[in-house]
Amino acid sequence: MKTEIETIAGETPGIAYQLIVHRFEGSDAAAPRVYIQSGLHADERPGVAAMHFLIPMLEKAEAEGRLLGSLTLVPHANPIGAAQHLYGEHMGRFATGTRTNFNRDFPVPDESGVRLLDQASAPVFAERRLKSRLLELAGGCPIVLDLHCDDEGVQYIYAPEQLWPEMSDLAACLDAEAALLWDSGSDRAFEEAAFEEMRARAPNGNLTGHCVTTVELRGQNDVDASLARKDAEGLYRFLQGRGVVDAGAIQAPALREDFVGKPIRHVDMVLAPVGGTILFHVTPGDRVQADQLLAEIIVNPGCKDGSVEIRAAQAGYVLTRRIRRFIRMGDNLLKIIGDTAAVASRKGALED
Ligand SMILES: [Zn+2]
Repeated sequence: MKTEIETIAGETPGIAYQLIVHRFEGSDAAAPRVYIQSGLHADERPGVAAMHFLIPMLEKAEAEGRLLGSLTLVPHANPIGAAQHLYGEHMGRFATGTRTNFNRDFPVPDESGVRLLDQASAPVFAERRLKSRLLELAGGCPIVLDLHCDDEGVQYIYAPEQLWPEMSDLAACLDAEAALLWDSGSDRAFEEAAFEEMRARAPNGNLTGHCVTTVELRGQNDVDASLARKDAEGLYRFLQGRGVVDAGAIQAPALREDFVGKPIRHVDMVLAPVGGTILFHVTPGDRVQADQLLAEIIVNPGCKDGSVEIRAAQAGYVLTRRIRRFIRMGDNLLKIIGDTAAVASRKGALED
C-alpha cells in the first residue's frame, strides 16, 4: 500500500486540509478497479471504523500476492467537515461556510457528456475543490463504494435500479437488511455523480460488472469493534466475489431471508406533525401494520391531549428513525419502506 497526503487549500491564509489517499496496485490489469471512501458526512463514523479493519486485510492480500484489482481508499473523505465544531457540537453534514450538504451538488456530466471538475487551484470554495478531487480519485473505477450511516437504522444500501439485482451481491456479503433502488437522481450526491461518469464512459451503455452505492452502515452510534470487523469482512468478501481479491472457489452468500429491496418511491418519509419530545413505539427492522402506533410526540407533558400519536399509513418495514428525541414540526421522524409505493415517483435525495 502506498499512501499519499494531498493538500486542499483553505479559503483564507494559514488554512489547509489534508486528504489521505491509500493506493493498492493489483497484479491483474483486467481485474476491476475499486474506489472506497468513508466519512464524507464527517459525523458518520461506522465506515471509518470498517476501513480500520479492511485496510490491514487488503495489505495482507497484497503481501500474499492475492490482490488482483487496484484500489484507492480515502478513509477520511472530508477533512473540512471533520474540523467543523460550533460551541462544542460537531457539524459534519453541511459545509458551514456555504450551507451546502457535503454529499450534494457534486459535478455531473452535462448533456454533451462533459463534466467540469474544479482544479486544485480553482478560485472556488474548498468544499467544491474537495468534491471534484474525490470524483477524480474515483474516476474510471467500475466499483465505487461511499460508506455512510443514518441516524438510527438497519444496514441498507442505495443502488441505481439499472445495477440491480447484480449489486445484490454487495448486500448479501454485507448481510444488509435492505436496499433502496433509485432511478432519477439524488440531488447530485457523490453516488449519482460517480454513476453518471460510469454511464458516460460505458461502452454501448453496458454496465455489467459495475457497482456504485451509498452504503448506510446502520446508525451514527453503531460504531464498535465487532460491527466494524463484520462490515470490513463483508466488504472484503464482496471484493473477493468481484475478482478484486483472489479467493479461489468461495461460496457466494445469499441475501437474508427477510431482506427488503424496493424502489425508493416506496419510502414513506414520516414527518413530525408537531414539535416536541419523541416516544418511539417501533425500532428499525420492525415490520408494521397499517395504522400501527409508530410514535407519540409529547407537546404538553401531563396534560389531557398533551401528546400526538403518529400511526403507519400502510404496512411496511421500519428502515430508520431519528437519533435525537426532540423534534421540530416538519422534521423527519422515521423512514418506512411501504409494501406499496408511498409516492408516484421520487426525484432528488430523501433528506436535505
Ligand atoms: Zn451520510
